[in-house]
Amino acid sequence: MTERQESDSRKLLGRLRDTLAEEGPAQARLDHITSLIAESMSTDVCSIYLFRDAETLELCATEGLNPESVHQTRMRLGEGLVGRVAKTARPVNTEDAPSTKGFRYMPETGEEIFSAFLGLPIQRLGERLGVLVVQSKDKRQYSDDEVYALEVVAMVLAEMAELGAFVGEGGTLSAPHQRAELFRGTMGQEGTAEGHVWLHEPRVVVTNPVADDPVAEAERLTEAVDQLRYGVDRMLSRVRPADTDQRDVIEAYRMFANSRSWMKRMQGSIASGLSAEAAVEKEQTAARTRLESVPDAYLRERLHDLDDLSNRLLRILSGQGNETGAEMPVDPILVAKNIGPGELLDYGRKLKGIVLDEGSVGSHAAIVARALAIPLVVHAEGISTEALNGDHILVDGEQGVVHLRADENVVTAFRDKMAMQAQAQLRYAGLRGQLAETLDGSVVAMHMNAGLMADLPSLKSSGAEGVGLFRTELQFLVRNQMPKRSELKAIYERVLDAADGRRVQFRTLDIGSDKVLPYMKPNDEPNPAMGWRAIRVGLDKPGVMRMQLQALIRAANGRPLTVMFPFVAQLDEFTEGRDQVLREIDREAALGHVLPERVEIGAMLETPSLAFAPWKFFELADFISIGGNDLKQFFFAADRENERVRRRYDTLNVSFLTLIERIVARCDATNTPVSFCGEDAGRPLEAMCFAAMGLRALSMRPASIGPVKHLLRRVNLIDARAAIETAREAGEMSVRPAVVEYLKGLA
Ligand code: PEP
Ligand code: MG
Repeated sequence: MTERQESDSRKLLGRLRDTLAEEGPAQARLDHITSLIAESMSTDVCSIYLFRDAETLELCATEGLNPESVHQTRMRLGEGLVGRVAKTARPVNTEDAPSTKGFRYMPETGEEIFSAFLGLPIQRLGERLGVLVVQSKDKRQYSDDEVYALEVVAMVLAEMAELGAFVGEGGTLSAPHQRAELFRGTMGQEGTAEGHVWLHEPRVVVTNPVADDPVAEAERLTEAVDQLRYGVDRMLSRVRPADTDQRDVIEAYRMFANSRSWMKRMQGSIASGLSAEAAVEKEQTAARTRLESVPDAYLRERLHDLDDLSNRLLRILSGQGNETGAEMPVDPILVAKNIGPGELLDYGRKLKGIVLDEGSVGSHAAIVARALAIPLVVHAEGISTEALNGDHILVDGEQGVVHLRADENVVTAFRDKMAMQAQAQLRYAGLRGQLAETLDGSVVAMHMNAGLMADLPSLKSSGAEGVGLFRTELQFLVRNQMPKRSELKAIYERVLDAADGRRVQFRTLDIGSDKVLPYMKPNDEPNPAMGWRAIRVGLDKPGVMRMQLQALIRAANGRPLTVMFPFVAQLDEFTEGRDQVLREIDREAALGHVLPERVEIGAMLETPSLAFAPWKFFELADFISIGGNDLKQFFFAADRENERVRRRYDTLNVSFLTLIERIVARCDATNTPVSFCGEDAGRPLEAMCFAAMGLRALSMRPASIGPVKHLLRRVNLIDARAAIETAREAGEMSVRPAVVEYLKGLA
């Protein structure tokens, strides 16, 4: 742009800003804006279309088209040139609109006499608000400078919309961030919660999209970018050399922070009249639009990096952020794009619920949320841009549904549901001291799964007999560096202290697959779930496993110790792992350390192959724990993390239950204690079927113990088994309908 054009642009923005300060209805402001733009750009027409709902645009103000068509002309997303701009979030610039593909004739507007058309999205950070259009009679293409100038104007309009400038009489936009919104995500952790939003990274509100003094504004930007670069360099200096992943991300930050073209574009926006904040947001908005259409995963990652960096820069410029003194509500529900396990753990049990834009069911954050028993919804797309700190929010972790700023009747229905759940919890609490004894007199031992110190209080409150699965990798995952032996020993000691004589089955490190340690070089494997993971890593690189075993032996300090190996696929893996334990015990003895009173060494059965292992395996294992999550994914060849397939195969499929039956029979034949510790153990119906197939020990999340026990105490396993047999003999694929029928018949 020439200096003259920049100065014109600044004048226009200044006048637009003045309309923001004007008292009066939104409609008058919009009318005024369209005439200002048309005049400044010397075009015949300027129109503003705003979204009426997610699918419909409405002409809300115009200079040059038939005024009668305002609030009459509507189009659907994708319809006509305006609809196309809204849908693609990209400009349409044509010298001959009527003969451009997709043009839709709107007779009421009288626009047929206008040939040139330039339409731009009015959008802010991925949120689409409407379309800004200029048109003229002459057949001409708008120049790049004109497109740029209008982009800047559209940015200011988006910021004005965010500030509520177009809300009010006349059917214009509804107030931003005030409408009730429903988000459908995926269940991450069950449970319901009501509370108020606490944004992990608060949204920056730009109160001054337009600036008068471009020189001062450019200086502010330069200072902020310097501060940003300094911060990035400091981050880089703190990264451990081995942490190549994190280093790559910060290097990308650094590349963007030092990017001349990024800086130049922002300076250009400032020269045209935008404030430094609005200039940053303009670039960020463009990056988000690109993000939506880039299929390449690497590029998407980089655009994410740029987005993060822009947020940092905005926070520096505006001085806004959680650290600037906003107060956390008493009932905080954390809303974030994504969050790491360590950060989540820092919030701890303060949180009533968690909602993430991204995340996944098996992510580390989900593992921590489960350990803390905090309701979690993942994949609630768009929530972190829509929600504001302090908004009322309802989280239904079971359904994967989130209500933001819900209407009163939704709130009432939700509270009823929560009250019913609370009642059920009370009922379950009453069972705490009772056995899970079925009507035919079978007793099923109830254990809990754990992995963090935060789990330990549940040992008492849930009534669990012990810990059937202690996932030791969580202690490794929530840190930035490999824990030391002494630290691990202290943790295991506290776990055993809290267990107070109850049995704790420590599982050795299960890393690889979806559990990647932040400080270990990731292996580029095409299929990590079937790759170098769990005991395979432990046997190939025994250093960490030995350190862990030593920590366990020392923590036991004379008490009984129970250790099991994850993901054993064949006999020799178990014998080698077992030998390692025995060797460590000998070493500890030689060092004069106190040995555990006794050591039991077991295996997790997580691959179908182990069910068919030689008898020697069953004889040698002191106990077996069925890791149903992995076992099921390999049995059905269906990735447990893949939303498309993970629910496709029923646990109560006859084939899978028959496999369980077979494992139990082999364990019974060798007198090897066997339990089931996958997620399905915590589902009452599934748990009942496992018990009917002969399992007498289950390990689950503490919160599931009550519901499972409640059901088991009401059923007769002989009848349940008969229902299963009948279905199996009848050639059914799944026994679910049969057992549901059986349950219906219960009193
Ligand atoms: C399992 O696979 O069932 C199991 C309990 O282990 P994880 O879920 O930690 O893989
Ligand atoms: Mg597993």
